[in-house]
Amino acid sequence: MTLNGKTALITGSTSGIGLGIAQSLAKAGARIILNGFGDVEAAKDAIDACGVRAGYHGADLSDAGQIEEMMRYAEREFGGVDILINNAGIQHVSPIEHFPVEKWNAILAINLSSVFHTTRLALPSMRARNWGRIINIASVHGLVASKDKAAYVAAKHGVVGFTKTTALETAQTGITCNALCPGWVLTPLVQQQIDKRIAEGADPSDARETLLAEKQPSRAFVTPEQLGELTLFLCSEGAAQVRGAAWNMDGGWVAQ
Ligand code: NAD
Repeated sequence: MTLNGKTALITGSTSGIGLGIAQSLAKAGARIILNGFGDVEAAKDAIDACGVRAGYHGADLSDAGQIEEMMRYAEREFGGVDILINNAGIQHVSPIEHFPVEKWNAILAINLSSVFHTTRLALPSMRARNWGRIINIASVHGLVASKDKAAYVAAKHGVVGFTKTTALETAQTGITCNALCPGWVLTPLVQQQIDKRIAEGADPSDARETLLAEKQPSRAFVTPEQLGELTLFLCSEGAAQVRGAAWNMDGGWVAQ
C-alpha cells in the first residue's frame, strides 16, 4: 500500500504510540506533521529516516487557539491534512474524592476537546477532496472502566462517542472516522503508572507482570508497531466502509 501524496498529522507523536504510528505512515510514503513535547529532534530524525517530508508544530493541545494555529500551519505548509491521528493524551490516577480539579480539566481538554477541535478544522479540506481518514486513539477505557481513572475513562468514552458522530456526519463521503482502543502498551504514559506503583511499595522485579496480569489476558504488551499496522489498514481502500468502529487491540482485555 502507498500513501504517497498524502499528509498525516499525528498529535502527541514525539513518543510512544503516536511516534510508532507516524513511522508506519511514513514508511508507507505519507508526509508527516509531528506534534508533542519531549525529544522533538529524535522524533524528526526517525521520520527523516523513512525518506519522507517531516514537519512539526508544538501546539499545546489544551489550548484551542494553539490547535487553530497548528491546523493553519498544516494548510499553509502541506496543503491540508488527509490523515488525522488524534493521539495525544495524558493520565492521572486518583480516587474521585481526591482527584485534582486541574488534572480533570487538563485530561478533558487534551484527551477529548482537542479531538473536537482538530476534527472540526480538518474536515473542510477533507470534504473538498472527498477523501480523509480520522483515527482517534481512544483506549479500552473508552469501552470499560477501571477505578481511580475517572477523568481518563470519561474522556475516552467521550472520544468513542465523538468518533461515532463524526462517522455519521461523513457517512456518504470518502472520509472515514474510527477509534482504536488499545490495552496496555509499554510507553512513557504506562511506565509512569508502573513507577507510581513501585513508589507505593510494589515489587520492582515483577511490577510490569502484575500490571498486565490484572487486566490483559495475553500478559503481553500491545506494541506501537502493531497499532501502526492497524492504522495502515484503516487508511486503505479495503477499510473504506469501516465507519464509526471502536476497534480494540488489547490482548483480550474487553473479552472478559
Ligand atoms: P506518551 O506519553 O508516550 O505520549 C503522549 C504524547 O502526547 C507525547 O508526544 C506528549 O508530548 C503528547 N502530549 C501530552 N500532552 C500534550 C499537550 N498538552 N499538547 C500536545 N501534546 C501533548 O503516551 P502513549 O501511551 O503513547 O499515549 C498515546 C495515546 O494512546 C494517548 O491518547 C493514550 O491515552 C492512548 N493509550 C495509551 C495506552 C497505553 O497503554 N500506553 C493504552 C490505551 C490508549
